[in-house]
Amino acid sequence: MIIETNRISKSDWTNWNWQLRNRLDNRKDIRDFFPNIGDDEVALFNDYKSKFQIAITPYVLSLIELDDNRNPAKGDPIWEQFKYFDHSKDEEFCGYDQKTINWELPEEMPTRILQHKYPDRAIIRITDQCFGNCNYCYLTMRTLDVDLKGRKEVDPSIWEKTLEYIDSTPKIRDILISGGDPLLLSNSKLRQIFEDLRNIKRVETIRLNTRAVTHNPFRFDEELLKLFKEFSLTVLEIHIAHPREITEEFDAIFERMDKVGYHPIILWRSPLLRGVNNSYDVLEELFVKLYQRRIIPYYLFHYAPYALGRSILATSVREGVELMLKLRRQVPGIAFPRYTLFHPTGKRDIPLELNGTPTFIYKTNKKGYPIIEFKNWKGEWVIYPDVRRE
Ligand code: SF4
Repeated sequence: MIIETNRISKSDWTNWNWQLRNRLDNRKDIRDFFPNIGDDEVALFNDYKSKFQIAITPYVLSLIELDDNRNPAKGDPIWEQFKYFDHSKDEEFCGYDQKTINWELPEEMPTRILQHKYPDRAIIRITDQCFGNCNYCYLTMRTLDVDLKGRKEVDPSIWEKTLEYIDSTPKIRDILISGGDPLLLSNSKLRQIFEDLRNIKRVETIRLNTRAVTHNPFRFDEELLKLFKEFSLTVLEIHIAHPREITEEFDAIFERMDKVGYHPIILWRSPLLRGVNNSYDVLEELFVKLYQRRIIPYYLFHYAPYALGRSILATSVREGVELMLKLRRQVPGIAFPRYTLFHPTGKRDIPLELNGTPTFIYKTNKKGYPIIEFKNWKGEWVIYPDVRRE
């Protein structure tokens, strides 16, 4: 391990703020963590951090396998999710026109932090910061922009406008608190948010989306879990990309949940990542391990065409379908997630048919890029830019 955990006191190691303070991030020198890393890697790291946020907690660093030089082992599935890439090939990689950096449409954003796409639910992006920065983040520059200073806390006037919108929109009954990672906020701040939302009587269910389970599992102390219980947080949506992220520390979260008597619905979601989890063995192990822990594998997301790193980490849609067809019936039905893609008009479940269906048609556009024409949830025909892999 790069991190000499035996030199760190247990009280420091298990303190989520210590994990935050000691991250490999933009202020650090990569050689403080990997002393033997080559000059070309240092140059790439420095170029990357001049444009994008980089953050990896000591806990995550301790999960990375090292080679004989104590550098991250080639292709290590943990390191692949954080490592700095040469993005120069992203630009021309697929048919995406690059007009937007993510697919939050201005007309569905009543405030900067509130997204209202579907009638009965809305997403609050309470922070743009995370415990660690995944290099494939679908929020792209919302979380990866190197200049995120001052955007950690939501402006009170924006929060007031957000509450007013929810309160004055009778159809909204379900709120997803997301980010970034909302658990970066203090417990007192979270308490205020939960109180404000629970004061709107029509808000029946509250969900919270976090990657702290794998980036900083120590965040889930008993005080936080009691807070979730007090405000009846209905659903925890967690993001795990690889079975190596299911550790003793991860399991301890669920032991603490049992201890405080908090039993939410727990849903799993992750992108399909080439070189990380795009194999039968990895996904089968992941789905089964989640199911054994009473976590429902809910969404396997296809790589967003606009996300950074697509030239390296994206599979084609058909590759994903082939993989899911192999996995179908090999794991219990409840452990078999939906394979879903993002589109500006809404998510679309991908039919597990290699040749498509009458409402999901594989085509090639005039420039030779693969595209998919499909009917969205509103019954409209839309186009999705796929990637050329085969
Ligand atoms: S934790 Fe989630 S929001 Fe944060 S960088 Fe990773 S994918 Fe993006």
